[in-house]
Amino acid sequence: MKQARDFEHKIYEALAENIFEGIYQIDSIGRVVGWNLGAERITGFRADDILGTFCGNNHITHLLENGTEIREDDLPILLTLKDGNSRESMVFLKHAEGYRVSTLARIIPTKDERGNINGAIEIFSDNKAVIAAYQRNRKVEQTVLFDALTGIGNRSHIEGKIRFALEDYKNGGVPFGILFIDIDHFKNFNDTYGHLTGDKVLRFTANSLRQNLRITDSCGRWGGEEFLVLVLDISMQGLGKVAEKLRRLIEGAEIEDDGRNLKVTISIGATIAKPDDMLQDLLKRADGLMYQSKQAGRNRVTTDE
Ligand code: GH3
Ligand code: MG
Ligand code: MG
Repeated sequence: MKQARDFEHKIYEALAENIFEGIYQIDSIGRVVGWNLGAERITGFRADDILGTFCGNNHITHLLENGTEIREDDLPILLTLKDGNSRESMVFLKHAEGYRVSTLARIIPTKDERGNINGAIEIFSDNKAVIAAYQRNRKVEQTVLFDALTGIGNRSHIEGKIRFALEDYKNGGVPFGILFIDIDHFKNFNDTYGHLTGDKVLRFTANSLRQNLRITDSCGRWGGEEFLVLVLDISMQGLGKVAEKLRRLIEGAEIEDDGRNLKVTISIGATIAKPDDMLQDLLKRADGLMYQSKQAGRNRVTTDE
């Protein structure tokens, strides 16, 4: 029993030392009995400076947003020690070097074997560091999932969404369809007006798709001048209407380019997922239908029924 408890204790110790957050623990009389590496990193105060001191009467200064010091009676950790309630609060701590650190603190009471409160633990994170880490993640996500030229999902993003929809559908989820879209005579834009104009046409097409789909639908750039649209919870007839709406919308718009007004059209293949489809079957069928639209004269929609 004791061995098991020692082992558990060691695990907690290792965890406390290695997590990103700061951990601050007090006993029943408000004396600091725990101060991990995270707390040292966030505040600049070392465990030697803090352990054994009394909360409210040590180097740790808690500030309100307006910069005034929080009175000892109002310190969140002491409130929890008193009333036994967990709480969460935004507090500013004064760093050892004088500057303010914005933190988000979660405070929980600790209890002895009989359930009596014998202290409290404050787990606090450095908001700035958390926000910076979050922003870094977002940036990585952006480059991994989105097409740099058009800003809509890239190939692997839309492929993942369709794969997921197919899996979900096979497990009793909603029926869905996809549109395979290819810009007509796109090469002419590049050849006649240059690549920058070609790029503009791609952005125009991508945004026309994105702006005119339901929030539950998705679109992505499949490659060069090809796009895929995923339409959830739809019948063949409904999918044909969505495709026709997009086709007409693009046909009717003008792209302003260096004083010229350019027109662009798209050819679409529209197909509904079948229960025994594999991803490749679905994509191949949509591509084939799009090709039929090209054969029939472009600027049209071909559905599979
Ligand atoms: P069709 O109506 O048969 O689809 O004719 P198309 O000219 O659209 O088809 P094709 O596949 O022959 O031409 C696609 C062109 O797209 C060729 C390539 O140079 C161009 N392209 C691919 N990616 C980009 C890009 O990122 N920017 C620009 N400007 N052009 C691109
Ligand atoms: Mg093409
Ligand atoms: Mg094309």
